Amino acid sequence: MAVNIVTRTVCLLIFLVMFCPNTICDAANKDVAIIIDDFGGNVKGVDAFLQGDIPVTVAIMPNMPYTTEQAIAAHENGLEVIIHLPLEPKNGKASWLGPNGITVDLSNEEINKRLREAYEQIPYAVGLNNHMGSKAMEDKRIVGLIVEFAKTNGLYLVDSKTTPHSVMPELALKAQIPCFENKLFLDDTLSTTQQVQAKMQTFAAKGNMHQHPIAIGHVGVKGEQTYAGIKAGLPHLKKQGYKLVFPSAWTNSQIEQTLQKRNGNK
Ligand SMILES: [Zn+2]
Repeated sequence: MAVNIVTRTVCLLIFLVMFCPNTICDAANKDVAIIIDDFGGNVKGVDAFLQGDIPVTVAIMPNMPYTTEQAIAAHENGLEVIIHLPLEPKNGKASWLGPNGITVDLSNEEINKRLREAYEQIPYAVGLNNHMGSKAMEDKRIVGLIVEFAKTNGLYLVDSKTTPHSVMPELALKAQIPCFENKLFLDDTLSTTQQVQAKMQTFAAKGNMHQHPIAIGHVGVKGEQTYAGIKAGLPHLKKQGYKLVFPSAWTNSQIEQTLQKRNGNK
């Protein structure tokens, strides 16, 4: 009898391996996420993405004219919200950083204050990623404070990968909190709809190579082209068996509790 069960189990396994379509067998590896950065202002693409017809994660900057308003709208339309934290870059104009950005000359106390303010201004936020930050993301003191803040408040982290020498994944691992990484920028300030659509195809081609594939686009000067390009690229992504999810789907129950707490309190 026992032999019979073993034989049948082995046969079933062989059958599954041989005949199961990829979309089913690889289901766990077919989740991808798209984050749209730079929300908070009245810029192009905001209204299109906030309709909620594409399940993107909305990364909102603190201290902007519509920070809180857009967080509420995104949540009401079924989108995931994260904090888009402005961090000091190595190059670029100070104005690009946005108001009250975090620079490496600030004290621990001031950085914690700015983190708290961002968290309070952005209701429903369940994660955090970096805006710019090629300098600050290499700084263990600064990133250490961000990781500690994320751990205390049950937020997941996304390293936008604005520098290859970011210390965020290493420090997040030490603190045992979820940290995902941007694998591909879908646009830049010159992108056309066709170029964004082509990037979506690249994303689909490379998606299988990573455990939690994330691509990042932006609202702003070319926000409408980014929206149109992502929308046009979605059928291809789906045809390849991918499903667009929010990064919180990859996190543990701690994040679920954060979601419940934040959603319940607002
Ligand atoms: Zn940004």
